[in-house]
Parts: sequence; C-alpha cells; structure tokens
Amino acid sequence: MLAHYGYKDGSGEYFIIIDTDKCDGCEECVTACPVGVFEVGEDENDPFREEPVAKVSEDHRKKIKYSCAPCKPVSGRKSLPCMNSCDPDAISHSW
Ligand code: SF4
Ligand code: SF4
Repeated sequence: MLAHYGYKDGSGEYFIIIDTDKCDGCEECVTACPVGVFEVGEDENDPFREEPVAKVSEDHRKKIKYSCAPCKPVSGRKSLPCMNSCDPDAISHSW
C-alpha cells in the first residue's frame, strides 16, 4: 500500500509516500537522510506484516516541508538523497 506521511496547508500538499509493497526494510534511507526523517520498524498500517518497513518518524510528520527544505528544490526525480538510496524505488514525494 501507499503510506502517506505529512500534511497539506494553504501553500500546498507535503507528503512523503512509502510504497510498503516495495520497501524491504533495508534502512538505506535512514542512513541517507541528513536530518533523520526515516525510521524502520513495525508497519503501522498492517499489524500482520512481520517484515520491518520504512516510515517517517513522528517528529517530522507535521513539519516535513521544513525538514526537507535543505534538499529542495530538486532538478530531477532521482536527485533527492532518500530516493537515490532506495533501490526498490519505494519513496516518493508529493512536492
Ligand atoms: S531505502 Fe527504500 S527499501 Fe530501504 S528501507 Fe528505505 S524505503 Fe524501504
Ligand atoms: S528530501 Fe532530504 S531531508 Fe527530506 S527525506 Fe529525503 S533525504 Fe531526508
């Protein structure tokens, strides 16, 4: 499934989307993100899933636009460190 983490306000929609079907829990995104946006653990949306999955940490969900500001704007789809690190292509951004 597509797990959305973030919010929308008057200026736009700010979500990081994790495709949990693609994510293999490798933790490469945890290492790649310079501000610690990601963590890997239990799947909040699927209590029956046994494999760990990436998610956005609670601390960053309500301020993700600002958390990601150092990496943006981007010139190409694969230019973000988090997306570059993810071989299964499980991470996308709404902005
Ligand atoms: S790098 Fe991709 S596959 Fe690995 S834990 Fe992060 S989202 Fe999942
Ligand atoms: S865009 Fe940058 S700050 Fe935001 S999650 Fe990706 S690596 Fe982390």
